[in-house]
Amino acid sequence: MKSYVLKMDRKKKIALVAHDNKKPELLDWVRFNRGSLEKHELWATGTTGLLLKKELNLEVNILQSGPLGGDQQVGAKIAEGAIDFLVFFWDPLEPLPHDPDVKALLRIAVVWNIPVACNRSSADFMISSSLMTEEYPRQVPDYSDYQKRQIKLV
Ligand code: PGA
Repeated sequence: MKSYVLKMDRKKKIALVAHDNKKPELLDWVRFNRGSLEKHELWATGTTGLLLKKELNLEVNILQSGPLGGDQQVGAKIAEGAIDFLVFFWDPLEPLPHDPDVKALLRIAVVWNIPVACNRSSADFMISSSLMTEEYPRQVPDYSDYQKRQIKLV
């Protein structure tokens, strides 16, 4: 598939999402990496965001709670280019009512080729990358052929 380059700024638009059992881990990770994260624009799903604000007094844009549509809001923002980096500590051991939304969010992150960290070690590697503070030419698949495809109307 053809692709084009979309520039990621030095200042990334980062979404932080954690399932309930993973919230302490995300909180700890954010606390440790606060200095790096504050250089970026931060977004979070509802409860994760409130926790980051309350516990760490972090400046973060708060969306709806995940199970109430927050994951889908993050996905929509990825599709429109308003979020270009995802840290998503999802819980592999517990089925959740919004499992389809979780899958959809992970899928859309791959569709648009944005960096995604689903666990702490991936997040550690990513936050330590020199690319975090540089512009990055993100290759975005060119879906124009798909958008122009012929639809058979009977
Ligand atoms: P929450 O949502 O931050 O509102 O808990 C996270 C999620 O379940 O996706």
